[in-house]
Amino acid sequence: MNAPTILGTHAPVLGRAADFPILSRPVQGRRLVYLDNGATTQKPIQVIEAERQFYEQSNANIHRGVHWLSQHATDLYEQGRERVRSLLNAARHEEIVFTRGTTEAINLVAFSWGLSALKQGDEIILTGMEHHSNIVPWQLLCERTGAVLRVVPVTDSGELDMDSYRALLGSRTRLVGVTHISNALGTINPVAEMIRLAHEVGAKVLVDGAQAVAHEVVDVQALDCDFYAFSGHKLYGPTGIGALYARYDILKDMQPWQGGGDMIHTVSFERSTYADVPQRFEAGTPNIAGVVGLDAAIRYVQEIGLDVIAAYEQSLLSIATAQLEQLPGIRLIGTAAHKAGILSFVVDGIHPHDLGTILDMEGVAIRAGHHCAMPLMTRFGIPGTARASFALYNTQEDIDALIAGLRKAQKLFGTGPQDD
Ligand code: PMP
Repeated sequence: MNAPTILGTHAPVLGRAADFPILSRPVQGRRLVYLDNGATTQKPIQVIEAERQFYEQSNANIHRGVHWLSQHATDLYEQGRERVRSLLNAARHEEIVFTRGTTEAINLVAFSWGLSALKQGDEIILTGMEHHSNIVPWQLLCERTGAVLRVVPVTDSGELDMDSYRALLGSRTRLVGVTHISNALGTINPVAEMIRLAHEVGAKVLVDGAQAVAHEVVDVQALDCDFYAFSGHKLYGPTGIGALYARYDILKDMQPWQGGGDMIHTVSFERSTYADVPQRFEAGTPNIAGVVGLDAAIRYVQEIGLDVIAAYEQSLLSIATAQLEQLPGIRLIGTAAHKAGILSFVVDGIHPHDLGTILDMEGVAIRAGHHCAMPLMTRFGIPGTARASFALYNTQEDIDALIAGLRKAQKLFGTGPQDD
């Protein structure tokens, strides 16, 4: 029997699972319990319909046509930009560049801003809990410029060692790259404070918001960050679309990193001139339907309220944490004071992949592995973890299914209590 929970108080979120068609399909003959939201979220019917309607009613290429349909598609695309601006509370819509996702947004900053701003001996500070997509682009940039990486250590509870961060900051620091919420630990990092400290030494800050935008209210003006990157598919939107926020006074002076149609002002074989921002960074036909779907996804979460979603997911997290801690032989990796709805753990005697496979047979989808954060796994001396990550449609029942699946796995492996 489970203890009574406070989930019943979250009326605006409860019942939303019905909006997500995939959640009613069985998997492995069982009800699908989808707890792999850190990897990607499922899509509500509102998003699926918006994309379908775009292709049925509005499809044309943007920015180039004189005909009505092209203008209509352009309006929808630019409306999507305005929606992203409102999601992040950016000051101007020109500060929003559409990309394929977080990864492309970070690469854009590295190879546009970074290539011209960095030189030999400059320093980039990253943290020990970054996703590979906020490590490898900077390594590539260091190879080209002679800049060097510095890394903020992670404590045993999965928090950033802020004293080390302060000590690393200095006159050579050009950029700090930090994840807002760790995909592997759930830690919510003190990004506002980190940005304030970085600005004191004149460094720019890029925040990787891949795990944040769907789970809390983000305000780039309040954070005062220089760059903020996110992916639509982790925000109930389509894959292949995301955005970079870049402060206007930085973005307007950045050079293109990809060339092609739509990003130019004039072209001749002698010399080309470039469009204003943000078009300068959107070469070629973009993912127009993706923008329309992303727009619908943002409207969906804004209608519920990101603060409401955050509070609900905090309830899920505390209930699941309490239940998990009662199981013998389970160690949580990531016990920070401020966490989002992500539970990473290892179970004595069972490899995370075996755990994932047994849970899958119960219809419970979790992720097992290094979560694209190999340096972090090395820090904890483990090859990987099992990770359950929550979204607005998860329920107490889902947590119960996870716990029951874990008990079953322990029983199968002979590592847990054998008598229940
Ligand atoms: N950063 C973090 C913290 C992530 O969780 C992810 C996705 N797992 C990424 C970056 C990369 O996002 P994408 O693959 O959508 O570009």
